[in-house]
Amino acid sequence: MEQTVIIEEVRSHLSDEKVKKAIELQSYIRGYLGGFFRSRGFIEVPPVIISPVTDPLNHPVLDPHIDYYGTKYALTKSMIFHKQILVKELGSIFTFSPNVRLETPDKAKTGRHLSEFTQIDVEKIGASREEMMDLVEDLYIGIVKDLAGGKVEPFNFFERKLIIPGKPLKRIKYRDAEREYGDDFESVLSSKMKEPFWIIDIPLEKREFYDREYEDQPGILRDMDLIYPEGFGEALSGGEREFHIDRIIKRIHDKNQTEEQFRWFIEYAKRGLEPSAGFGIGIERLTRFISGLKRIEDTHPFPKVPGKISL
Ligand code: AMP
Ligand code: MG
Repeated sequence: MEQTVIIEEVRSHLSDEKVKKAIELQSYIRGYLGGFFRSRGFIEVPPVIISPVTDPLNHPVLDPHIDYYGTKYALTKSMIFHKQILVKELGSIFTFSPNVRLETPDKAKTGRHLSEFTQIDVEKIGASREEMMDLVEDLYIGIVKDLAGGKVEPFNFFERKLIIPGKPLKRIKYRDAEREYGDDFESVLSSKMKEPFWIIDIPLEKREFYDREYEDQPGILRDMDLIYPEGFGEALSGGEREFHIDRIIKRIHDKNQTEEQFRWFIEYAKRGLEPSAGFGIGIERLTRFISGLKRIEDTHPFPKVPGKISL
């Protein structure tokens, strides 16, 4: 597309009232999230944008690299490895982490994918998955209650009703959901539900090598996804992490990945990692759900829709 056309598109996007309100709402959300995690004893750390190692992800994305004084650096797809390294020193951490994931252009139509987005990425030393789920439930209920108080003007603009759920949120095992609703269970269930819910116990092949298997259920991970209701889809992913170097290396091989690919992380892990658990919440997706907007691009001033050239 021609540059002048793109510039006009950006101008019209930025003057759209709902986009301005969504950006304002996102500013409130960032403030709430930061305050929440700090109040629970988490330390905010700065994001890592470039590094010789990043998350391999479990789905295909294009893989941009930069030449950093002769060493190949990746743009961060998630800070998982840096989080695992940091909890050992700092205990409980969070960061607003910009991620670059050049998603395939078929993702442009989901309303949920951008090539550049921010996740609030959280990790705690020694934590169980259940402790992290409990924390997320407190966060979700807290923010929805705050919004229901009527004092957040950009939220009121959207005239959106959000249910204040009770604890705990519903927990459904991955295999059970698959058996009952088929391969597309996530979107089927998301459309059916009125409150956010958890998918837990995710099969190993559906996730990256770094999440932890049950000791007594090989092939099943101590993982979770939170799914928004009303068809909004996945909100966050997380789980307990593998920290034994032998098992990390075995899992890399099982995935047909190479030690070379992760040698920076492996070298660090050889010196000892601690057990931890954590998760990452997409900020734009959270803004989209809270506002009720259908398209994620309306939550970002300069959205990068997969496959589309923009400012
Ligand atoms: P993941 O660990 O890959 O599930 O990513 C963590 C969270 O980041 C997801 O649950 C989403 O909320 C968000 N996220 C992941 N990919 C994207 C994307 N392409 N665009 C916007 N948000 C995303
Ligand atoms: Mg996920």
